[in-house]
Amino acid sequence: MYDWLVVGAGFAGAVVAERLASQRQETVLVIDRRDHVAGNAFDHLDAAGILIHRYGPHIFHTNADQVVEYLSQFTAWRDYEHRVLAQVDGMQVPIPINLDTINRLYGLTLDSAGMEDFLAARREVPERIETSEDVVVAAVGRDLYEKFFQGYTRKQWGLDPSQLSKGVTARIPTRTNRDDRYFTDSFQKMPAEGYTRMFDRMLDQPGITLRLGVDWAKLRLEGGFRRVVFTGPVDEYFDFRFGKLPYRSLRFAHVTEDRVWAQPVAVVNYPQTEDYTRITEYKHLTGQTHAQTSLSYEYPTDSGDPYYPVPRPENEALYQRYKALASATADVWFCGRLATYRYFNMDQVTAQALATFARIDAALGPRSAAGVRQQEKHLPHGGDATAGAMRKTGNAAG
Ligand code: FAD
Ligand code: UDP
Repeated sequence: MYDWLVVGAGFAGAVVAERLASQRQETVLVIDRRDHVAGNAFDHLDAAGILIHRYGPHIFHTNADQVVEYLSQFTAWRDYEHRVLAQVDGMQVPIPINLDTINRLYGLTLDSAGMEDFLAARREVPERIETSEDVVVAAVGRDLYEKFFQGYTRKQWGLDPSQLSKGVTARIPTRTNRDDRYFTDSFQKMPAEGYTRMFDRMLDQPGITLRLGVDWAKLRLEGGFRRVVFTGPVDEYFDFRFGKLPYRSLRFAHVTEDRVWAQPVAVVNYPQTEDYTRITEYKHLTGQTHAQTSLSYEYPTDSGDPYYPVPRPENEALYQRYKALASATADVWFCGRLATYRYFNMDQVTAQALATFARIDAALGPRSAAGVRQQEKHLPHGGDATAGAMRKTGNAAG
């Protein structure tokens, strides 16, 4: 009998499992239906011996000191500032749109004040900024919106930006200076030996047992645990009772080329042409030296693994119905991008997982040998973790 079953060995599951084992000395069975840890951040050496990210480029960036402090226990870091170019009108120009983007695209020599005037003359500010179209058109006007955002978003989401909540394209700023970094966070570094190595260290705790290739559907019937942290899709947990929550998926085409470098930066976006959205060249991210180079192409699709919750009001409303069920489910904590249906980056999921642990710790109180025996005496329950008597005081939904 384990104290905990943690479903999913991605950021959400691994962080909570590590905290439960190291801070509460509890026994934790971690399962994942995939054959590896690290969730979508999984990286590995491909056939050529090049470190690649199986599920697309994962760049770590954060402003949260607590997250950096926590993860630094399990990895060293290498400096890396992410830069992206967009293939627009036959040129490769910086995205986020900055001064150089505008000058190159329109053959101008504006300075920052000039770019401000250029945008001011083109902006269309609606009464209320609600959609992903509104947010971009209000910042840069329709021409740049169509060049950089409309096509990319239609490909990526299968929806027009006008059908998506503003938060999606609001991830990408506009700059009137020449800063061509994708992110401006205070901490921008990659795990020195990769994500998977960091996860291996996180999960290498006395008290943690890892079983890969195992689905919750099987363990839910078998039992053998007292409480659950669930990081899979929340609608799946509740057998799609209210209908399926939409998730967007991707097909990744991984290739290795017989040349040292293929593109000038790690990622090139294709907002106007091609069926794929972007090409990633991994050596830029990892700093690896190799005579060949490995790239991945991302083809968005509706079927396949759930990668992206789709932020739009009707999906949020459906999620809220599942969230109400989740909050009322005893002895099960829901955490992570899929379980709380949030378009979260890795640092946000790490912060959410640390907060989930804090809630668990507060709800269950200090754990001592005597306390354990007492809890076991008062809170017996068998395989169905949802049937326990212990009610949690809060949930992690962000
Ligand atoms: P996941 O990583 O999805 O882990 C959940 C795990 O649970 C999975 O391994 C899954 O197999 C397992 N699971 C699900 N259901 C079950 C079940 N029923 N039984 C057993 N196991 C189950 N974030 C950044 O910060 N920077 C980036 O550059 C970045 N790039 C990204 C690029 C892409 C293409 C994608 C898709 C995401 C990117 N992200 C990025 C986001 C990042 O992947 C997530 O924030 C993070 O991986 C979420 O962790 P998680 O544990 O919530 O979910
Ligand atoms: N986006 C776009 N053009 C770009 C880059 C981004 O239209 O060149 C939009 C698109 O809708 C995308 C969203 O902005 O899904 C967020 O981009 P980000 O690069 O953060 O996506 P992720 O890395 O999460 O896939």
